Amino acid sequence: MGSGESGFDCNETIERLYHYLDGELTDERRREIKHHLDECSPCLDAFDFEADLRVVIANRCKDHVPDALRKRVHDALVEEERRHAGG
Ligand SMILES: [Zn+2]
Repeated sequence: MGSGESGFDCNETIERLYHYLDGELTDERRREIKHHLDECSPCLDAFDFEADLRVVIANRCKDHVPDALRKRVHDALVEEERRHAGG
């Protein structure tokens, strides 16, 4: 486990994903998050999902979401529910 060399830990990275995607962070912060994502695949998955989700939401009013992407998000949500229900 990382002993706090530099950059963020997972919790901080996830928390900042939203700001990252909104473009609210400084270049330095974005670099630190990118660096973490390069080394941490769970966070990278979360980032990918969050980024895709934004595309779906952004396109929702245009009703022009690619089926593959829509299915991916749908599957992820179903899986999430199943995890909560299954225990
Ligand atoms: Zn991480």
